[in-house]
Amino acid sequence: MSQTQPLIIDCHGHYTTAPKALENWRNQQIAGIQDSAAKPKVADLKIGDDELRESIESNQLKLMKERGSDLTIFSPRASFMAHHIGDFEVSSTWAAICNELCFRVSQLFPDHFIGAAMLPQSPGVDPKTCIPELEKCVKDYGFVAINLNPDPSGGHWNSPALTDRHWYPIYEKMVEYDIPAMVHVSTSCNPCFHTTGAHYLNADTTAFMQCLQGDLFKDFPTLKFVIPHGGGAVPYHWGRFRGLAQEMKKPLLQDHLLNNIFFDTCVYHQPGIDLLTQVIPVDNILFASEMIGAVRGIDPETGHYYDDTKRYVAATPHLTPDERYKVFEGNARRVYPRLDAALKAKGQ
Ligand SMILES: [Zn+2]
Repeated sequence: MSQTQPLIIDCHGHYTTAPKALENWRNQQIAGIQDSAAKPKVADLKIGDDELRESIESNQLKLMKERGSDLTIFSPRASFMAHHIGDFEVSSTWAAICNELCFRVSQLFPDHFIGAAMLPQSPGVDPKTCIPELEKCVKDYGFVAINLNPDPSGGHWNSPALTDRHWYPIYEKMVEYDIPAMVHVSTSCNPCFHTTGAHYLNADTTAFMQCLQGDLFKDFPTLKFVIPHGGGAVPYHWGRFRGLAQEMKKPLLQDHLLNNIFFDTCVYHQPGIDLLTQVIPVDNILFASEMIGAVRGIDPETGHYYDDTKRYVAATPHLTPDERYKVFEGNARRVYPRLDAALKAKGQ
């Protein structure tokens, strides 16, 4: 089905512009790990609806209107998840606060934002402890996805691979609720890896390779992962991955992984989007910008914001109008069935 004017769905947005009170509360919480007298109560954080509205209207929503995107799948700020800080109780309290703020934004701007949850992951803690927060976000908040951190250690990679049974409790819930996970790390506390320039892209590449080595989707044929930031190094090295799969006697990547893995368009220049759309089948590409995020400046070569990715998707010669509809809208409806249902309930 093609439409001349697709709905522009941005599947990758974070609340990077939350009122300063949130960061202050988090700093207090971190101080409280060493000094319990400093530990803040959840009720100490007070952010009014007007503050929330202002933080969105003057930032994400303003840019969405300028650039012509309609709806953002909106999750807590990724670098602030920092699952490596404190224990499960710290992560749990923090995740609940951050998810609630995204829920409130989705309530204030229901036509423009719908939530995706961060999970209260904590290094060495069984992922099944994340289930209550996940359930609340889906059932009570109407969230349509989760962000899953494959490395809650923050750059030390001491969790089992994503294909390990360790993660299965989360996958079972994802399948039950029919929600995808964006595989998304957080701040690197390993100085060898710059957070957004190395750790994020490494994690994207690593997640794909873990799935290639394993047979996860035999156990979960309907499980869906969105690998952000254009899939890290994957599209650029597609030949290497095809060759590795062949040597490992795995099926063709098309059959082995591409029913379950999708890449977003958070690639901040035209040649990158051209490569992505030339190499990766169109059914596996989802429009996203991750604005206002890692790269906030203007490209002097083009005079436009690096993260204005709609411009590159519109300009690439490798997509027909029908294929562009898939990237902007159709694929998101398929990968995020709860988003599709929410739109249909509103007559969209
Ligand atoms: Zn992100």
